[in-house]
Amino acid sequence: MKDKQFDTRAVHFQSKEPARNTSKAKPIYQTSAFVFKDLDDMESFYEGEKEYLYSRYSNPNTDDLGKGIALLENAEDGVATSSGMAAILAGILVVAKQGDHILASEDLYGGTYQLFADEVTSLGIEVEFVSFEDLANVKGAIKSNTVLLYTESVTNPLLRVEDVEGIIQLGKEYRVKVMIDNTFATPYLLQPYVLGADLVIHSATKYIGGHSDVTAGVLVGHESLIAKARSKIITMGCNLSPFEAWLACRGLKTLSVRMDKQCRNAQALAHALEEDPNIHRVYYPGFVSGKGNGAMVSVDLADHVDVEVFFKSLDWIKIAPTLAGVETTVSYPLRTSHRTIPEELQKELGIGKQLVRISVGIEDEMDIVETFKKAIRLS
Ligand SMILES: *Cc1c(COP(=O)(O)O)cnc(C)c1O
Repeated sequence: MKDKQFDTRAVHFQSKEPARNTSKAKPIYQTSAFVFKDLDDMESFYEGEKEYLYSRYSNPNTDDLGKGIALLENAEDGVATSSGMAAILAGILVVAKQGDHILASEDLYGGTYQLFADEVTSLGIEVEFVSFEDLANVKGAIKSNTVLLYTESVTNPLLRVEDVEGIIQLGKEYRVKVMIDNTFATPYLLQPYVLGADLVIHSATKYIGGHSDVTAGVLVGHESLIAKARSKIITMGCNLSPFEAWLACRGLKTLSVRMDKQCRNAQALAHALEEDPNIHRVYYPGFVSGKGNGAMVSVDLADHVDVEVFFKSLDWIKIAPTLAGVETTVSYPLRTSHRTIPEELQKELGIGKQLVRISVGIEDEMDIVETFKKAIRLS
């Protein structure tokens, strides 16, 4: 490069990649495209011999995340997306087309509810929301053009543990595909694909990332469905960026360590709050897995507790409209995640003005319990 002009040197100053990569951490392939020696070399991508051409198609870091979650869910393949919502959309589009009918649980993450109610419906796909609490209800709603049963393994914000096996059985009986949002349970606690689900999605923004610094999603399932999903993700452009994927992969390495502690803390908090006379009701899953029951706790504060004061009295615990980070946070579903769902449905689902959702972190159990008890006392 020494013999080149300034501008050329400024662009081409970097040394060649080491022939053998010996960095301990996986490098971030922060690149939009990959280079080729000659035209034959480029042709080899289209013949399936080379993996990488253009990062919207695939990239080593985004592949790591998709395939990493597939490995933990014991699924054949997985693909990473720009968000949990994008993973849900890609999954739906693989299974459903105009004229089809989808049965979705009425008890869903607010964004998912909106995706179904506004966008999926506008594609000419009929979406019917039914209670999945009683499977006879789901069974009765299956029609000849039903192609998908959609629900969450642990629901948000009331933390009902779905009868995933029962739903999968129903799907098999009627030859209807089953897609599960496994975000709250994580692949550590529950693996719906092993139980027979066709597609499983995760908002990797939550426990998989774990540090509230990345927005990402993952869709896993059988090779044939994931191949279709990958092609849609490429065309729609809802692929994940290499750096975001790298962050989510770093989070994934400590998933089980974080979950073990977060589940223990949540269990302790749920027990402590159950005994508090200022709490009307505690929502905490009875059983998710032998490894733990998740790290979310929701509570209905007693009617005499002032919610506004409660949120101001939480000291070091912050209000955040998300969950699953290493820090304990609280959210108010009525005005955030469930703001957009119809008022009648909010009432029916039990999402009222005294409902508080707690995402329990990895801090010391005693500090978490004491801080909540004090905030409730002060309110
Ligand atoms: C957050 C969340 C989503 C959406 O994920 P994003 O990464 O925000 O797009 C979907 N389902 C559940 C259960 C969630 O908690």
